[in-house]
Amino acid sequence: MGDILSGTTLLEMKHIHKKFPGVYALKDINFELRTGEVHALLGENGAGKSTLIKVLGGIYTADEGEIIINGKKVNIDGVKAAQANGVAIIHQELVLVPYMTVAENIFLGREPMSSGFVDKKKMNHDAQKLLDDYQMGIQANQLIKELTIAQQQMVEIVKAISYNSKILVMDEPTSSISDKEVAFLFKTMRSLTSKGVGIIYISHKMSELEEICDRVTVMRDGEYVGTEVVKNTTKDALIAMMVGRDLDNFYVRDYCDVEHAPIALEVKNLSRQGTFENISFSVHKGEILGFAGLVGAGRSEIMEAVFGARPYDAGQIFMNGDEVHFKNPMQAIKSGIALVPEDRKKQGLVLGNSVAFNLTLS
Ligand code: ADP
Ligand code: MG
Repeated sequence: MGDILSGTTLLEMKHIHKKFPGVYALKDINFELRTGEVHALLGENGAGKSTLIKVLGGIYTADEGEIIINGKKVNIDGVKAAQANGVAIIHQELVLVPYMTVAENIFLGREPMSSGFVDKKKMNHDAQKLLDDYQMGIQANQLIKELTIAQQQMVEIVKAISYNSKILVMDEPTSSISDKEVAFLFKTMRSLTSKGVGIIYISHKMSELEEICDRVTVMRDGEYVGTEVVKNTTKDALIAMMVGRDLDNFYVRDYCDVEHAPIALEVKNLSRQGTFENISFSVHKGEILGFAGLVGAGRSEIMEAVFGARPYDAGQIFMNGDEVHFKNPMQAIKSGIALVPEDRKKQGLVLGNSVAFNLTLS
């Protein structure tokens, strides 16, 4: 991280207002981004973060306010106009075409042509050069569907770079990638900022903020709360800005001394051949127990076994002191266990059905 206060102003969003029917999503928002800066946009769900970047990206038009890029007032009235002004957005939901190659995705809609045909050789060559420049370890002729989520994100970043974007927006980029992939993402971000790119980073992970971000702007209920230099502020101060009150009286806990509270769930020597072995742990009432480990360490499998969604070969499970053995998730749910799965879209929700259906499903 350089001294970001020395960077020049790249982008200013001034007095931005945006109303949706019944919702005042952005009320007089001000935001400034400098060259070479990673600027976090922080706020609870519904604070207006995505709406603000969609205004910047030309997906929504603001009702009021102005956008100034490199000192010039610009009119971003669509996605193309945003691109032309050097703005690239990497949305939380990736939008690459799965059955097309990396190169085809990068150059979608602007393929190099030769005698009326797409010049595939040139396209692959140019894409590969970009991928290699950033040591992505991805082949230009690979299909998107063969890539991991993190690799797909990298392709999105390469695509953004290929447009010579000066302003890169990332909406919660680390929500579904592993620690190792996060480290690579941060390295790529640093190499971009060292070239003067300004990055707007939407996240609610405090630890990441400290590691990668220079400044942070906090929003709450569609309003601008403030902008801080990350190293001059604290986690607690930022959370207080986000929620609008001090954390001390945030939750009232029934069990403050969790170590001496009754045990809610106890797992003893749970094993499943080839998946996990001799796993023991207990959770007290009022306790939040963390389960650390690399992707593939077996954490999800253990929880699914406790939940009755997967068999186990040996071991015991106790709930409030009574031994239980759930043969299916239905039994677990009836006994008061809920599982919010890893892939909520695939495992947790029936997307074709209504919210009401999903809420009452269990
Ligand atoms: P964040 O990204 O900080 O979670 P959003 O920008 O998505 O917040 O949403 C801000 C507010 O605007 C929310 O109350 C949300 O329900 C509302 N909102 C967002 N998009 C729309 C839309 N297209 N139509 C109506 N209301 C919307
Ligand atoms: Mg959002």
